Amino acid sequence: MAELKRQPIPKDVRERVAARAGYVCQKCGGDQSCEVDHIIPWVISHDDSETNLQLLCLPCNRRKGAKVEAGRKTWFHADYFGVGA
Ligand SMILES: [Zn+2]
Repeated sequence: MAELKRQPIPKDVRERVAARAGYVCQKCGGDQSCEVDHIIPWVISHDDSETNLQLLCLPCNRRKGAKVEAGRKTWFHADYFGVGA
């Protein structure tokens, strides 16, 4: 298994993603412990660009994480890409 070193997302990128989202969760609109999250998991995409980042609150992030563990196939659903949300 190839291991790429995961770099932290630069602060200015995170700030732009958060500003773009209006500083609220892009899934539910809540503002509980919002964090920048990879739309396509980094382990799959290795993509730290802004287009692969979204702002999610803690509950939504946890929910997504559980889904990723349950199976990547089911995770790859438009609903989880935040498109058109
Ligand atoms: Zn949320």
